[in-house]
Amino acid sequence: MVDLRLHRREVKTALRRRDLVDAYFVGKFGLSPYQACAHGCTYCDGRAERYFIEGEFDRDIVVRSNIATVFERELRGQRERGIVFIGSGVSDAYQPPEAEENLMRSCARLLADRALPATVLTKSHLALRDLDLWSEVNRKAGFVFMVSLMTLDDDLRRVFEPHASTIDERLDALCAFKAQGCATGVAAMPFLPGLSDGDDQIRLLAEGLSALDVDFVIPGGLTLRPGRQKQFFLETLRSFRPDLLTLYERLYGEDRPSGAPLSAYGESVHRRAITTLLEAGLPIRMPHAVYHGRLPVYDEVHVLLQHMADLYAAHGRPVRRLREAQSRYSVWLLARKKVFNRRRSLRPGVIEWELKEMARTGALAELLANAKLGEFLRAVVLDGKLFDYRQMELV
Ligand code: SF4
Repeated sequence: MVDLRLHRREVKTALRRRDLVDAYFVGKFGLSPYQACAHGCTYCDGRAERYFIEGEFDRDIVVRSNIATVFERELRGQRERGIVFIGSGVSDAYQPPEAEENLMRSCARLLADRALPATVLTKSHLALRDLDLWSEVNRKAGFVFMVSLMTLDDDLRRVFEPHASTIDERLDALCAFKAQGCATGVAAMPFLPGLSDGDDQIRLLAEGLSALDVDFVIPGGLTLRPGRQKQFFLETLRSFRPDLLTLYERLYGEDRPSGAPLSAYGESVHRRAITTLLEAGLPIRMPHAVYHGRLPVYDEVHVLLQHMADLYAAHGRPVRRLREAQSRYSVWLLARKKVFNRRRSLRPGVIEWELKEMARTGALAELLANAKLGEFLRAVVLDGKLFDYRQMELV
């Protein structure tokens, strides 16, 4: 482990609130006690210039020392409820300094006391330290424990994620949270070209996670943004596997601002990963049963529509009409939230009430321009039905 330089900062805000819930990790609020990350993953997107992180990314760690105090104040003022997602692409909440700082423990205590649902995504088994509090959150409001995992090969992990927990430690943490009744998920990313993106490697990972009974696995490929992130990664690759440099130059030679590889490769690895995960019986999105009741129903519908489009696409079914309906719904929801955010006198729950009325009267089907989907959502909104992501049917 390199010597860390901790920079303590007082923050004015703690929570990032989204009007449209992030359907990928299903977070309505975001929380991040640190900036930069001592885990030092060589592919980390956080090194990219766009995040304006100063100093050495894996050494100069900003500690948001008053985050729990600010978080508590902001929770009191929230008019909407929803899942707090703790994890980001530019820091890990359970990175090494947390062992001394205990910021996450304070935040978990607040979430448990207020019975608010949460999800943690980490590469560290230090999260086990707070298993008692997260179990309490789970009993009261729902908790999802996610780890990020690109491979089951710990030799590869040691090179590309040098200071994160070992693979076994992460798998043990998944089992421990599962044993406490928490939902568990894995961000299976990034698959590294020529290193961890082979069919056999993906299958091994899928079967291993299926054996642990994880609830879902979200796959993702490697992006290399031109600049610091790409340079740093290629330097590691040069000393570890110089024979692969030509392959990476071909896949990432276009230097797209997003860091995406050639489309043909990106689509291929995505398709192969999804097919393998589905064959192993693993949903590729957080199942409806996991986030149901932990978001206001209008946000739940927003996430569900996006997930359904992703799932149907993964099963090779047409999704154009579904995506159009999803887009109409998002426009409606954003407009309603704009009014709600402007008029402080509106009571919480007014959008929920409007949506239920629309489902009851058929106005929702009209909004979506899709009678069948309107009927389907009526069962979700009014009867609390769930969409089973494995069977692809309402239950
Ligand atoms: S754990 Fe996440 S945030 Fe930290 S270095 Fe690795 S990829 Fe980046």
